[in-house]
Amino acid sequence: MNESEVAALVSQVLKEMTGQAAPAPAAASAPAAKAAAPVSNGDIPKTAHVAMLTALHKFEVQEYPIPPVGDDDILVKVEGCGVCGTDVHEWNKDPFGLIPVVLGHEGTGTIVAMGKNIKTDTQGNPVKIGDKIVTSVAVCNSCAMCRLHPELPNLCENARIQGLLPDKESNHLQGWFSDYMLIEKGATFFNVSDMTLDQRMLIELAAVAVHAVRRATDTGLMPLGATIVIQGMGPVGLMVCAVLKTRGYRNIVAVDGSEMRLEMAHKFGASHIINYTDFKSTEEKVNCVKSITYGLGADFAFQCTGAPPAAAEVWKFVRTGGGMCEMGFFTNNGDCTINPHLDICSKEITVVGSWTYGALEYPDTISFVKQCCEMGIPLTDLITHRYGLDEMNEAMETNVAKKGIKIAYVNKNF
Ligand SMILES: [Zn+2]
Ligand SMILES: [Zn+2]
Repeated sequence: MNESEVAALVSQVLKEMTGQAAPAPAAASAPAAKAAAPVSNGDIPKTAHVAMLTALHKFEVQEYPIPPVGDDDILVKVEGCGVCGTDVHEWNKDPFGLIPVVLGHEGTGTIVAMGKNIKTDTQGNPVKIGDKIVTSVAVCNSCAMCRLHPELPNLCENARIQGLLPDKESNHLQGWFSDYMLIEKGATFFNVSDMTLDQRMLIELAAVAVHAVRRATDTGLMPLGATIVIQGMGPVGLMVCAVLKTRGYRNIVAVDGSEMRLEMAHKFGASHIINYTDFKSTEEKVNCVKSITYGLGADFAFQCTGAPPAAAEVWKFVRTGGGMCEMGFFTNNGDCTINPHLDICSKEITVVGSWTYGALEYPDTISFVKQCCEMGIPLTDLITHRYGLDEMNEAMETNVAKKGIKIAYVNKNF
């Protein structure tokens, strides 16, 4: 049976069923479908809402038309987004000079429309309407770092990340603190449809920890039996703790002043807890670490606070010949004093800094988040508070007051 015979048969069957002939195939002269018509689930409102940071300490819910979805764009309905320390700094001081801006870069949502050129995510996995995605960072490919050191994508001088882009007239929907976001050409994103909302909202934060642990292990100073100090049990320190646990480390010393956070550190894999409020001096704390390391000190330390006094102290925990990763100062919180002779030179300490992550570290990070679930690490317990779009000022205040651990925006209309 050839093609026209099939068509005739189908037409006949339909005629019998409905009393009408099947519509004739569109003639060549018929008006063509709109060239850039995106694939969509047909259920898209005309406008979207964003929490626009319009001044310091001031989020305003604003409504904008949803722009047309271009051939390389993706429109997502936002489900939720973690609140990052960076968002809080922007709200507090606008260090990046972005105001007015729609923040939110730890978000996730469902694809409701996409351009015809979108077939796969950044890793090459197929994507379709209804899939859930997270976004990552995109490099510029033209700055000096991109040209000379493409192996260090996290150090691109013009890295682009949804939620940290300057607002523009043609698209106000560029951050996850919104109910719809239009992701434009060039962004990186990953299909994470098989993960829960809470897991998805933690992926970006987890990538920061996965990158830092890689920086640390690359020094060769972290064999599996190593004793590792993590200073600061905020979301970043706790995440580092969980990454180390999944990587097989069993001697992890968590340092913080909050019982609630230390308790969580224990669940995330810390073998020893140091509540610094129980100690009178740095020396006492150092002796405590030495007592569990044959008098030597830790093999490696992660500095995960943004507090200069903590950054000055962390060196004292590290043994001679050990290493340290500084990853707490994602914003400039000022200087601290160290003693180059005692802290670095005479102890021959190897220091690494750690800054964000590259998009291609996401697949490993996504596996890590799933692995936590399999190993019974209650990673999603990190999310302690949830706020709606009209409550973002409150969300920031909760964060500043250090009332919870991880604060999240959740779209109540999802
Ligand atoms: Zn972040
Ligand atoms: Zn670049």
